[in-house]
Amino acid sequence: MKRLVVIGGGFAGLTIVRALCTEFQVTLIDSKPFFEFTPGILHTLVEPNHMQRIQKSYASFLKDVVYVQETVTGITSSFVMCGTQKIPYEYCVIATGSSYKAPIKEQNVVLASRAHHLHAFHKRMVKANSIVVAGGGLAGVELMGELATHYPKKQLHMIHPHARLLSAHSSAAARYAEHFLRKRGVQFHFNERLVSVMGTQAHVSSGKTLSADLVCYCTGIVPLTAFVPPSWKTKRGHIITNAFLQVPRFPHLFVAGDANSIAEEKTAQHAERQAQVVVRNIRALEEGEKLQAYTHRVSPVLISLGKYDGILEYRKIVMCGWLPAFLKWFVERKEMWKLH
Ligand SMILES: Cc1cc2nc3c(=O)[nH]c(=O)nc-3n(C[C@H](O)[C@H](O)[C@H](O)COP(=O)(O)OP(=O)(O)OC[C@H]3O[C@@H](n4cnc5c(N)ncnc54)[C@H](O)[C@@H]3O)c2cc1C
Repeated sequence: MKRLVVIGGGFAGLTIVRALCTEFQVTLIDSKPFFEFTPGILHTLVEPNHMQRIQKSYASFLKDVVYVQETVTGITSSFVMCGTQKIPYEYCVIATGSSYKAPIKEQNVVLASRAHHLHAFHKRMVKANSIVVAGGGLAGVELMGELATHYPKKQLHMIHPHARLLSAHSSAAARYAEHFLRKRGVQFHFNERLVSVMGTQAHVSSGKTLSADLVCYCTGIVPLTAFVPPSWKTKRGHIITNAFLQVPRFPHLFVAGDANSIAEEKTAQHAERQAQVVVRNIRALEEGEKLQAYTHRVSPVLISLGKYDGILEYRKIVMCGWLPAFLKWFVERKEMWKLH
């Protein structure tokens, strides 16, 4: 059997590993020994016990796969470097995703230390009288939804550099989210940036100072591609791929998910769809068949506002209320159930 190395066991990496583990000799390399359902993390910050429902150790469900817990530090057209090892491959998929400010996402952690960090952050949240969330995109809005519904008595501020929330989404979705949060006492600072934090004071670009016992940064993702040569990457660090998700000049090396340069919103759904194309293309290379190009498809977006409210956006349709919240819960359960 040929050797397939998959770097990163997130949404994209696991889709590939599970599809190809009986056709190839598969090695999964990840710096942490467990899968974590990232969209569920924000709820974990206010309800730490939720963690057990959204994490699963690779050892508990991966069969017929060699798992290596290491951080990849280099890659060539024929092997992957991590620690002191060089792992050779015939096919390789980079699915290292992206980083987000801790504690929302963390690398190089085991389950126990991850739990410790999330509990510690939760304690700081409970103690804080005033909390500032910097960034009113999808993650910032969802986090504020959790805070506003869990802690109605806290002073909550949101700083956002644009004129309205959820700039990448429809204005109907933004209006609903803003109304929902305002009704629960959230104060908005639009067209402002967080400049600095000193002690319990947050300074914003207009010169205002906000009380901030705790600041949560929801300011976007950074691709995790430090181990890849600079000439393979865009200025923002995404690995450049062709339409078949291959690294140009290296037909046996693919990139799927947040780490690649495909111009679309970086979501778990897109990562999984890209992974399915990579699976087809690896099989096509083996069979000498035509490769399939990845094409963007608009997918429904679910935005939670606490546990019992949310927004479903699909093309021009925007549906708000309990049903999107239920669907979000259902997707989480379904994704975790798949890992058996
Ligand atoms: C707060 C938040 C909320 C979100 N909500 C949603 C949502 O509701 N719906 C949605 O569709 N998307 C959502 N997303 C986006 C979604 O989580 C990402 O798009 C998705 O995780 C990308 O999948 P991936 O497989 O590319 O990477 P990831 O899921 O990030 O997995 C990458 C894996 O690679 C490992 N890794 C990284 N670098 C190395 C290295 N050098 N060596 C070894 N291993 C490495 C990491 O440990 C990780 O396990 C959200 C993201 C955030 C941050």
